Amino acid sequence: MTTGFTGATLDRADHERDDPAAFARALADPAARLLLLTALEPPVRADGALAWVAMDAARSDAVLLGYMDGAPAFAAGDGDGTVPAMRSPTLMATLANMPASDAALYGIARSLIDWHGRHRFCAKCGHVTQAARAGWARKCGGCGTLHFPRTDPVVIMLAEHTGRVLLGRQPSWPAGRYSALAGFVEVGESIEEAVAREVMEEAGVAVQAVRYVASQPWPFPSQLMIACVAQAADDTLRIDTTELEDAFWASRDDVAAALAGEEGRFIAPPRQAIARTLLEAWFRG
Ligand SMILES: [Zn+2]
Repeated sequence: MTTGFTGATLDRADHERDDPAAFARALADPAARLLLLTALEPPVRADGALAWVAMDAARSDAVLLGYMDGAPAFAAGDGDGTVPAMRSPTLMATLANMPASDAALYGIARSLIDWHGRHRFCAKCGHVTQAARAGWARKCGGCGTLHFPRTDPVVIMLAEHTGRVLLGRQPSWPAGRYSALAGFVEVGESIEEAVAREVMEEAGVAVQAVRYVASQPWPFPSQLMIACVAQAADDTLRIDTTELEDAFWASRDDVAAALAGEEGRFIAPPRQAIARTLLEAWFRG
């Protein structure tokens, strides 16, 4: 199963990250290239692929993503590293037209640069931090603590009942859009427990027999989406309207129409979202 933001052809070269000489060699490599994000948005060529530029060896602030076909691939952001409040409304369409491996590389770059912008100070002592390990960590100048880019696990799930699946929508979504329910895994919780808790909290439905289906990164800013299917014993809904505007049980015909892009009960999530992959997997059985 192919999921969004995966499939980057990249050697992450973790073994080089603690070697300043290797980083200097990569910076000076004439084949090195740079992905320069503007307010975290990707540079794009006319054909929709990522627009890389030649590496500027003076940009020692760049993150070494890794090596592509043996050539170093760097990423950097513009400006002062502050994090934009919103992503561009056209970004998802841009990513839908991009080769999948490019969208995956962009996701890595975006999450890393965003993380650097949010972690300029040490969470332990408050001192200023500096990029370390070729951009894959930050080190505190006060207490020496190494901080690593975090990824936050999110469960996203279809509760199933008599051949139908539970979908919900949030008020901020485009009109007609419905998707699988989702929520962050909390401290001290298994994936299965998080699935059961979220479906109960948001829709008042008890589920069991949670099955893992697939996962994907979601670089807004840096989640790991864990897609599951679970069985509901009862189809009575008790919707938490602080989380969801609406929820309903979608039939196979509803899902078929939405995936085909036809007018119907709801509009399916975009191609890069694992909710769509999950709906497709469920529909195929
Ligand atoms: Zn510190």
